Amino acid sequence: MIDFRKAQELVLQRAKSFGTETVPLGQAAGRVLAETVRADRDYPPFDRASMDGFAIRYGDVEKGMRRFVIVETLLAGYVPQQAIAEGECYKIMTGAAVPGSADTVIRRENAEEKNGVIELPELPVEALPAATFPAPVDPRFPWRPFQNIARKGEDLRSGEVVIDRACVCTPPVMGLLATLGHINLKVERLPSIGLLTTGDEVVPAGDAVSPVQIRNSNRWLLESALKNAGAPVVAWDHAPDDPALIRQRIEAFADKDILICCGGVSAGDADYVPGVLEAMGAERLFHKVAMRPGKPVWCGVSKEGKIIFALPGNPFSCLVNMTLLIAPFLRACYGLPPAEPLGLAMGAPRKKRSPLDEFFPVFVSGSPARLTPVTLNGSGDIRLGRQANALALHPANEDDLAEGAMVACYSFV
Ligand code: AMP
Ligand code: MG
Repeated sequence: MIDFRKAQELVLQRAKSFGTETVPLGQAAGRVLAETVRADRDYPPFDRASMDGFAIRYGDVEKGMRRFVIVETLLAGYVPQQAIAEGECYKIMTGAAVPGSADTVIRRENAEEKNGVIELPELPVEALPAATFPAPVDPRFPWRPFQNIARKGEDLRSGEVVIDRACVCTPPVMGLLATLGHINLKVERLPSIGLLTTGDEVVPAGDAVSPVQIRNSNRWLLESALKNAGAPVVAWDHAPDDPALIRQRIEAFADKDILICCGGVSAGDADYVPGVLEAMGAERLFHKVAMRPGKPVWCGVSKEGKIIFALPGNPFSCLVNMTLLIAPFLRACYGLPPAEPLGLAMGAPRKKRSPLDEFFPVFVSGSPARLTPVTLNGSGDIRLGRQANALALHPANEDDLAEGAMVACYSFV
């Protein structure tokens, strides 16, 4: 039996892009960008006032001038009508372009304005605001040239690469793309996924259940996890535990990019899925991984070269296999770097239950962050560690974990 890292490696070796497509910005949130993006101009595009105040010529204060006549008020987006001369200033608002004739912005609260004229008080050296670092040119005057001005191009130069590899369109990326006027984006195409749940006892969640039937929870668990993992295009079907019917349903998903089966992969009398897949010519990458839960998982590649995941039916096993195998596979297909687990301290001790790598649900909280194990009565516990926000690993080679022990922690998708 292979360990989960080897299983991940075998899966990742089969990762490849599903192609690219162009979408408008309005449809790009959460998608993976598949192009290099450059700055279309300098950013800031102009010398930008970063405070409300008064724009002056620093040379004037060097000469000892402290009184300035306001010649114009500049709001954001305004173009000045005239340049300022000696003894003159603009009243200027945050976000406005600082005209070339000015080079320093004095904050509104640091000047006294009366009848269209401002006076700058001289402050003793001790009163210098911390923001004047590095030291001002004139110690009696606590500002320096270009104070409170974000210089043109200080963030980005025109043509500079801003995004240079696959990247998820998160809220900051969306904001950045809009700023750059990049409104049609090349993104990774979404794979189509066929999801086949199996089991004689499993009925749709809305149907009446007999005392020995259970509702199909994994369909909804997996569909929502896939959506979170950036693969929302899912066609679902269900098959009873009948090899011919399982085969028929799988054949109907032949056009899908990825096949996910659920249930019927262990060693029970009604566990037909791996046998059916292999009879259909699928190449097995592995069957069974030395992890708990999720040990019975089967993974392979169809004759047509499509990846197939066949997960055990216990809901928590499904969630663990989804988190550790399917989500990393999707990331790799999209060209994203692997999501590295975080090392965090246990907030409580934990007993080892098996000689395998054990994954258990945890709630991460606090500062510094600690892990509190969430009660779960085995992989069939329908509560699924609901309060948990991550999975932690109790390694195969470690005995009971003491409080404070460092463990690897994997975010749920
Ligand atoms: P299996 O992997 O088919 O041996 O199923 C293991 C356990 O998971 C059994 O208790 C099944 O009833 C349950 N199970 C299988 N499929 C589902 C499903 N789609 N939703 C909820 N539970 C399931
Ligand atoms: Mg079954």
